[in-house]
Amino acid sequence: MSGRPARQFDRETRLRLRRVCLGLLSYLMFLVPMSIAVHAGSSTMGWSGVAVFTGLAVSINGVALAAIASGWSKRFADPSLLVPQLVAAMLLALGMIHFFEGEARSVLLLLFVAVFFFGLFGLDTRRYLLLTIGTAVGYAGLSTWELASAGASQDAWLMEALRFSALVVVTIWMSFIGGYFASIRRRVATQRKELEAANARLRELSIRDELTGLYNRRHLTERLEQESERSRRYGQGFSVALIDIDHFKAINDTHGHAVGDEVLVQFAAILRLQARFVDHVGQAPERTLGRFGGEEFMIILPGTPLAGARVCLERMRAAVARTPFETSAGPLVATFSAGLAEQREDEPSQALLQRADEALYRAKQAGRDRLES
Ligand code: GH3
Ligand code: MG
Ligand code: MG
Repeated sequence: MSGRPARQFDRETRLRLRRVCLGLLSYLMFLVPMSIAVHAGSSTMGWSGVAVFTGLAVSINGVALAAIASGWSKRFADPSLLVPQLVAAMLLALGMIHFFEGEARSVLLLLFVAVFFFGLFGLDTRRYLLLTIGTAVGYAGLSTWELASAGASQDAWLMEALRFSALVVVTIWMSFIGGYFASIRRRVATQRKELEAANARLRELSIRDELTGLYNRRHLTERLEQESERSRRYGQGFSVALIDIDHFKAINDTHGHAVGDEVLVQFAAILRLQARFVDHVGQAPERTLGRFGGEEFMIILPGTPLAGARVCLERMRAAVARTPFETSAGPLVATFSAGLAEQREDEPSQALLQRADEALYRAKQAGRDRLES
């Protein structure tokens, strides 16, 4: 391997490049029937003509490869350059067909069909039909000019009319069938995108608490397990806090469940805002805040020792205590108590949660609106 890293292309670009290579391969395959015709003397192009054809084919593909690989083609609506490549192939086929006569010419008309097959990579019926018209006009113009300038017989004109009509019938059919396949492909691609988006939405829903929009208990439990695993593996500790609103039942009993819900939503918003606050210099890993159930919340603080967790929770406590909740029953003040615990080496997450819960109990016992650890 050389020291230079290989250029990385995205999936789409790789696909486009592969198609251009396929195009080059089909040009090279055309060389077989052409060479046979030249060898049999059915063509006036000679070997130098074959060389010119090869040179042009390689140039067309080389330009397409460079335009796609450099990213230059991305500025177009059709970054695969399918239409320009097909038009170039058509013109090349028309130029080549000029040097073939009689039966050889009839056979080589198949090359046009091969070009149309390439359109399956994405031409819609409209573009296909435009390509058909272009091909028909090009072929009719070429033939008329050849026959007229040679003063051809009626038989020769009829033969050419036969070739022309067969070419047009086949390419029109290809246009409809090819356009149909392109539409199926587009539909499948759209459906796949929609499915991916729906899956992402479902996943998001499955980890969120409906009322507050915070993470739900399932996600909290999952994150706690992941954090435990990470601390076992990398020795990076973390802390966890259980937060419980004080005398929440009284709010429900006095003002009704709906007002209790309003308080829960605003409480969650305050916690979320405070959780984003970074207290210490350096990069703090993302904290996970969620609703553990009822009026209980949990926050996981990765890479944070107890002292750091205390600072964060104290700021939350002060923010909640000084912010009256704007409810339909007027402004209400509430406080919370929290139990904190820092993970001990090799401590299972269940034991850690148990310690946080015991600390929370002590905070309640000691008079509420406080932190314990
Ligand atoms: P403490 O200070 O000891 O925590 O007292 P508390 O009243 O907050 O504790 P308790 O566990 O007795 O009451 C919790 C209440 O929270 C009881 C329940 O009806 C209420 N609750 C639980 N989930 C919801 C909810 O989604 N919406 C509303 N409005 N209330 C809820
Ligand atoms: Mg409770
Ligand atoms: Mg409570």
